Amino acid sequence: MTSKFSVPNQNDRQYPPVDLDLIAEGVRLILEGLGEDPQRPGLQETPQRVAEMFAELTSGMREDPHQHVVPLPGDKHDEMVIVKDISIASMCEHHLAPFVGKCHIAYIPKQGRILGISKLARLAETFSRRLQLQERLTTDIANTLFEGLKPLGVMVVIEAEHTCMTLRGVRKAGAKTVTSAVLGGFRTDPRTRAEAISLITGKE
Ligand SMILES: [Zn+2]
Repeated sequence: MTSKFSVPNQNDRQYPPVDLDLIAEGVRLILEGLGEDPQRPGLQETPQRVAEMFAELTSGMREDPHQHVVPLPGDKHDEMVIVKDISIASMCEHHLAPFVGKCHIAYIPKQGRILGISKLARLAETFSRRLQLQERLTTDIANTLFEGLKPLGVMVVIEAEHTCMTLRGVRKAGAKTVTSAVLGGFRTDPRTRAEAISLITGKE
């Protein structure tokens, strides 16, 4: 597992609304570049469809992830919280190819501040639905949770299969890339980190 903290951060950028017509024009050019006839019956609607798909797969670029990090009021819980197996679908910014996998989030609450489980999933989704690198996706989720919830520690682990690796290039079907981001108490206390990892992986 690796921890990376120096990956450039795109979070502060404000994105304009999606220009569906511009994307459709680009898709038409791809079809022409492939020697296809964009006017043939099977392809006529394709540029528009692809544009709408891209808008959906990048909807997180136009959402504020901080809106999901709102602590539940009046809770006393201070033991480690782990939410495993949050499904994620993202898009690699190097190939515009999907990568899909699971995100595991662990944190140790401070002063009883916890987050609804659905909020953790929404946070992962908002960052997934962007043009991403798996490393940045992992640190974005961890940093936003750490800053917004101010817990004692945060650990995020993502395992994902990148179609740009499994369908092309080296074609290693089923190969998984694992990334992690470890902050606060999980970073300073190896035993706490080991406990989280064993709970996430189900291994000692
Ligand atoms: Zn890629």
